[in-house]
Amino acid sequence: MLSVPVFWRMNKEKYKMIGKKCLDCGLVIFPNRKNCPSCDSQKLEEFGLSGKGKIYSDTIIRVAPDGFEAPYITALIKLEEGPMIVGEITGVDIEDVEKNPQGLVDKEVSITFRKIMLNENGLRVYGLKFLLE
Ligand SMILES: [Zn+2]
Repeated sequence: MLSVPVFWRMNKEKYKMIGKKCLDCGLVIFPNRKNCPSCDSQKLEEFGLSGKGKIYSDTIIRVAPDGFEAPYITALIKLEEGPMIVGEITGVDIEDVEKNPQGLVDKEVSITFRKIMLNENGLRVYGLKFLLE
């Protein structure tokens, strides 16, 4: 068996999310920061995240900021490796989500690369979103 860090280095291109891991307390950090939010250590190394997680809570956005198309769903996602992040959920029928009192809570998601918005010049801007598993 390869050690875990070696495996990540070899497979870096497979990972769409690169975070950091604290070498002092082991906390996985995403998005990147200079210091560990838990122990304030600066000894952090690059860490590939699977991009998989579970929805902790979700909200339907009906009034979108400029360039975004409403309605859409944003969710608080707990990543497999521990960090919580906010992301847009794509590929779901918003009417179905509305009918379910639980919303999307506890659904498994994985990261994908999609159109996020149109910028002020009408050009498509791409970024990361989450798809239900
Ligand atoms: Zn730490």
